[in-house]
Formats: sequence, C-alpha cells, structure tokens
Amino acid sequence: MHVPTTFIIGNWKMNTTLDEAQALLSELSAASSSVQVGIAPPMPWVVPLRQALPEPGIWIGAQQAVPTATGAFSGDVSVSMISPYVDFVLIGHSEQRLYHPAPQGTFAQTVQTLLTEGKTAVLCVGENQEVRDAGRARDHVGAQLEDGIPDTIGDGIGRLIVAYEPVWAIGTSRAASADDAEEMAGFIHDWCTGRFGRSVPVLYGGSATEDNALEFLTQTHVSGLLVGSASLHADRFNRIVAAAEVAIGH
Ligand code: PEP
Repeated sequence: MHVPTTFIIGNWKMNTTLDEAQALLSELSAASSSVQVGIAPPMPWVVPLRQALPEPGIWIGAQQAVPTATGAFSGDVSVSMISPYVDFVLIGHSEQRLYHPAPQGTFAQTVQTLLTEGKTAVLCVGENQEVRDAGRARDHVGAQLEDGIPDTIGDGIGRLIVAYEPVWAIGTSRAASADDAEEMAGFIHDWCTGRFGRSVPVLYGGSATEDNALEFLTQTHVSGLLVGSASLHADRFNRIVAAAEVAIGH
C-alpha cells in the first residue's frame, strides 16, 4: 500500500446544506497517491456523503466525536457510532475547545478509541495570541500533546496526525509565517520522537489558502494543511491540492 506523504484536509465547520455538500464533494479533484485529500463535513452529512462518494480516494471525516460508546450524553456522537462511515476524526479543534470544553484526558481517550478502531486521529493543537505574546507557545502546545496523546498509543501512532493551528490564525486571514509553522512543526516532531521514538505527520492550519499553500508545504516538517474557509470553494481547495503535488515534485 502506498503511504501518502502529504495530507490536505478540508474542515467545512458548520457550513453547507446537504445539496451544497454533495455538489462541493463532486467537484473535488483526485490527487496522486502521495497526497491524501480529506474533508470533514458537518456531522449529519457524513453518512450521505460517504454513501455518494464519487472519488473513493477522498477521505471523509468527522469534526469531533466522544470516546464513550453509548449513554446519557445528549447531543454527542460516539467514535463507535461514526467510525463505520469515516476515515478520520478531528480531535480538539480550537472551536471545540472554546465552545465545548472537555475534561482533561478526554482527547487522549478519543484518540485511543479511534486508533483502536483502525481510524486516523487528527489531533488539533495551537496557542492563542495571549500565550504566543507571553512566549509560552511551545509550552502550551507541549501540554496539549501531553493531554491529547495517550501513553498507551503503541503502534497506533502510525495513524496519528497532529494539526498545528494557532488560534490567532484561524479564520482571521492572518496566517502564521511559514517560519513560525515550521518552527512549531519541528517542535512537535521532536516532542513525539522524544516520547515515542517516532514522529507523526504535522499539518499547518490557520488561514491557509491557494496563495500561501506552497510556502507551507515546502517546509521540512510540514506534511500538509488543515484548511477551513478555502475548503468551501472547490476551485480554491483543488488549487491547494495542486500545490501539494508541486511541493512533492509531481
Ligand atoms: C480551521 O478551522 O481548522 C481552519 C484552519 O480555518 P481557516 O482556514 O478558515 O483559518
């Protein structure tokens, strides 16, 4: 099996009607086997999109899930309920952390549950402006890795992806510099290697566009992008995927 080296993942957040979602998905171009394209639509569209998937090479994901399988958790969707329909789940996106804070250790449980089910976990980390200004960005991201990656991960680490998304860059049109993204991606690589003896792909997210994608994707430790608003336009998202092909020399 060819292992992708680059991941371009669209986070549609709470956008699109079902018709719009189906149309958008149908317009996404296929990538080479070195570039894995994925989209995370709103939860109710996951199953119909999976059933209508025009391009089997595109991953479908969920924007969040909880580790407990069933129970009195109104409004939540468990990993075991959604996993038959997804390839990956975003965990700890900053909007989830802000609007639906989870008890400490929950993200690590979700990561473990997903990996056990053979799915990919995309753990989102990143500091806010105040933390960056105070010079504590690395400490903050290190603590989020500590909280989100289970000690028991074992071989499952092969299906873990970390997305570095500085909160101040998300939805602001103020992307991090490629140097800042590379610096934190390198830190995450070192952290994972130091802890588990191997690294994981690190994506950058935060106002990534078709215009700045190539600059991020040519950084040594950046293995892809998590894309919000630009992923809602097929032409823009396809151009980001094309930039990934250029970055790997296709
Ligand atoms: C996101 O929500 O993960 C994101 C990166 O959003 P945007 O690209 O719009 O900044």
